[in-house]
Amino acid sequence: MNYIEFLNFWYDAALVSGFTMLGLGALNYLIFKINFAAKKTYKEKFDLVSKKETKRLLQTHLFIAGALFFFVNDAFTQDIELSPVWFIVRMFVSFCIAVLYGYVSYLVLQFHYPVRLEKKLKKLRYTPRINPKNGKEMILLNEDEEDAYLDEGMQAEESTFSCDYDVWIDESTGDTHIEKYEGHVGALECDRCGFQTLKLSNEEIIREPTETEDGEILKEYMCSYCHRIKRKNVPLLKKIKDRSEVSDHLIAEQ
Ligand SMILES: [Zn+2]
Repeated sequence: MNYIEFLNFWYDAALVSGFTMLGLGALNYLIFKINFAAKKTYKEKFDLVSKKETKRLLQTHLFIAGALFFFVNDAFTQDIELSPVWFIVRMFVSFCIAVLYGYVSYLVLQFHYPVRLEKKLKKLRYTPRINPKNGKEMILLNEDEEDAYLDEGMQAEESTFSCDYDVWIDESTGDTHIEKYEGHVGALECDRCGFQTLKLSNEEIIREPTETEDGEILKEYMCSYCHRIKRKNVPLLKKIKDRSEVSDHLIAEQ
């Protein structure tokens, strides 16, 4: 096979590979979207988006980067025919373009996308739930109100670990619907670099709460962008002895 014949073969192969990469990227994104649409509840959609969306988007962009590599390898045909050196040069340039594209996508997804993702997740989490029994909109109880509907294990989990229970209630029937959210998912805004990349990395109980005094918990956050470490002491609320006692007390106060 001479050089020109090889080039002709290469053009066809690169073209097919480029379109295959584009197709795989589109398919990857489409499967995610179908998967999202197939989830029945907002909670399931929330879990899918928080765990998978960034990863899927990155995969899609890496496929596009691969497609770019092959398409650039199909360009500048007349110059390349002059000498095999140009073939190597073009190969190198297309490789650099693909790596650059992949790297920029990675940076955007890692450091800018979380803000948009957070908005999307908030919408999924706080869209009013519907009571399946009567089709009515339920309302979300606030932190103080929800305690009455959570058992002790759930409350302990809420105050000790970074997890959150949302309690939805249908006021007309009293039906409740409880959802559990991992607090680790959301990232905070870093006060040094300003990106939404500050995440809880460690939690440690410094002082156990007693029946009369609050305990203390040390939370350690780390920024995945500038690696700032932030420590914060948070009170660990004292144990509430008996729930009925508390509500009796509240009624008496009113
Ligand atoms: Zn930072």
